[in-house]
Amino acid sequence: MNKNRRKVLLIYTGGTIGMVFDEKLKTLVPVNFDKLNSYISYIDQMPIDIRHISFENPIDSSNILPKHWVKLVDIIEKHYIEYDGFLILHGTDTMAYTASALSFLLENLNKPVILTGSQLPLDMIRTDGRDNLIAALEIASAYKDDLPIVPEVAIYFENKLFRGNRTSKFNAENFDAFYSGNYPVLAQVGVHIKYYTEYINKPTNKPLKVYKKLDNSVGLIKIYPGMPIKILEDILYDKDLKLVILETFGTGNAPTYDEFLKPIKKAIEDKKVILNITQCKAGKVELGRYATSLSLENLGVISGADMTVESAITKSMFVLGNFTDKNQIIRLLQTSLRGEMTDNE
Ligand code: ASP
Repeated sequence: MNKNRRKVLLIYTGGTIGMVFDEKLKTLVPVNFDKLNSYISYIDQMPIDIRHISFENPIDSSNILPKHWVKLVDIIEKHYIEYDGFLILHGTDTMAYTASALSFLLENLNKPVILTGSQLPLDMIRTDGRDNLIAALEIASAYKDDLPIVPEVAIYFENKLFRGNRTSKFNAENFDAFYSGNYPVLAQVGVHIKYYTEYINKPTNKPLKVYKKLDNSVGLIKIYPGMPIKILEDILYDKDLKLVILETFGTGNAPTYDEFLKPIKKAIEDKKVILNITQCKAGKVELGRYATSLSLENLGVISGADMTVESAITKSMFVLGNFTDKNQIIRLLQTSLRGEMTDNE
């Protein structure tokens, strides 16, 4: 490796970017990195030392599991000193979950961990993967005065860099597939890469701390008018769940009739944590703003403020996996740990 060049470790997990059309199955399937290599030989021309590592069996990201997040943490931990930045190639479907999970599992991160992928495979002429890959590599290797410009987990897609735990996939058709409704973009790519440093985490001197535990005893209920109460009861009374996320209306509102509130009350009495996030793509839960959220607050439901559902789920798994004291769990859920939420006032 050239000593003056930045070193980036490219971690290939699968996803459309590395898929090809299987004539027999008549569908897109992930291929291994060696097959992919011929489509991305151009990255050798970049002034960066790039090494790659690949999941043994690349996956469609719909098959991602917490164990894969831990595997990514293991890889980053093992190579943290050696590399200046990390680029994860990942399917778009669950990229926001992986980015959110990694942000919680990597505390005091002081190097870029960038995720990207594409809507069309790299072997297609009109692919968006090529541009995403090249710009994401540049961002993963970007340093100024020997300090990383983006020392955080971020998603790069179609000219924009987003904070990973603020991002959701919102479009399955357009190349412009990701969205961050409650936090500004971290960088915009055009002729130049314009970094909005005021929104990017500052480099830290603290040593990296990695976590490898996630507890998936987390339930999720998206409420809707006319929802059968049995759905609420089935999840809220499930003995294997420690925490249930309620995706509510607007600023955290839900029906106030007894039949709806009763299972919530009982679950809280049974020591479950109930976390309220909004179904809206921007804005936040403000418990007590309306009577329809005051009733939830009075029962002991806590506010997830403006967290995305991806962040709320992965943060819940992280907090349950690594902390045992219920008051601490409740406090952490309502506090911004990695810039994933606007703190509850
Ligand atoms: N199903 C694919 C995946 O998430 C979609 C994509 O990569 O865009 O792995």
